[in-house]
Amino acid sequence: MPLGAHLPTSKGFEFALRRAQTLGCDCLQIFSKSPRQWDAAPLDAAKAENFRAAWNTSKFAPLVVHDSFLINLAAPDDAMRERSTRAMTDEIERAETLGGDFLVTHCGAHLQKDCVAEGVEAGLLRLAASLRECLNATPDARVRIALENTAAQGTCLGGPFEHLARVLHELNDVSERLCVCLDTCHAFAAGHDIATQDGLENTLQNFDAAIGLDRLALIHLNDSKGALGGHLDRHQHIGQGQIGADAMRRILTHPRLKHLPFILETPDVETMIEANLQTVRELQIEGQPTKKRVKPGRKAAAVQP
Ligand SMILES: [Zn+2]
Ligand SMILES: [Zn+2]
Repeated sequence: MPLGAHLPTSKGFEFALRRAQTLGCDCLQIFSKSPRQWDAAPLDAAKAENFRAAWNTSKFAPLVVHDSFLINLAAPDDAMRERSTRAMTDEIERAETLGGDFLVTHCGAHLQKDCVAEGVEAGLLRLAASLRECLNATPDARVRIALENTAAQGTCLGGPFEHLARVLHELNDVSERLCVCLDTCHAFAAGHDIATQDGLENTLQNFDAAIGLDRLALIHLNDSKGALGGHLDRHQHIGQGQIGADAMRRILTHPRLKHLPFILETPDVETMIEANLQTVRELQIEGQPTKKRVKPGRKAAAVQP
């Protein structure tokens, strides 16, 4: 399986790639611009070209781009939805320019606290309609949009797998342009008990029944600070959270998952990502006792440049 991390690009896209190479990764996730700003300068064509050239010689795959946190494609307010649709179209174009394989996007929030059932249904239809507009505006883009499951916090859509299935169903005629990213922290926080062996099997069966495991393109591997079903979107170091090391090993080595790209979005990326990647590599070796894992806290001080 390709293993990688979400790395910052404050020093440039090529710097992030070089760092991923130093870390021994096989794939990479980045933002193509600040995730907390609506607007950004267009990508510099020469820099993008240089990055693509460096990427192609690196043999890394896949390149994953994550969209902005501000985008809400399910917003009930027309102006907000239009702004989000424009921003998402720009995200697709930027990801395409960088040579991205996947653009991960959250499902948005329906924002109708008083009538949740209606809010969910209408929100999912708005999300599907917004995505269709974005896809229609970028007919030649080859980057695939990966809908990410959420912790179902507040009125956020995408906690139950049926939400993702509904959107994919609405866009069935353009299914080759859409896939799913499963975030383990979000799944656990939304109430999918992936921490136990039976729970993982049930979760994957539910995913397969609702969406189809063939639509699952990548995993965001994060432990969870919050409890099962707590709806808290707080990532934790691998093996140090409520999901735990044994469950992480089962996820990493599961026959239905182990071929997929695994991307870490664990906390304190500057100081802790190397230790977290090391923990994953050790957990991948089936049957290795949990106590032999490298504790991120101990390793961190010595490893960062
Ligand atoms: Zn995300
Ligand atoms: Zn994620």
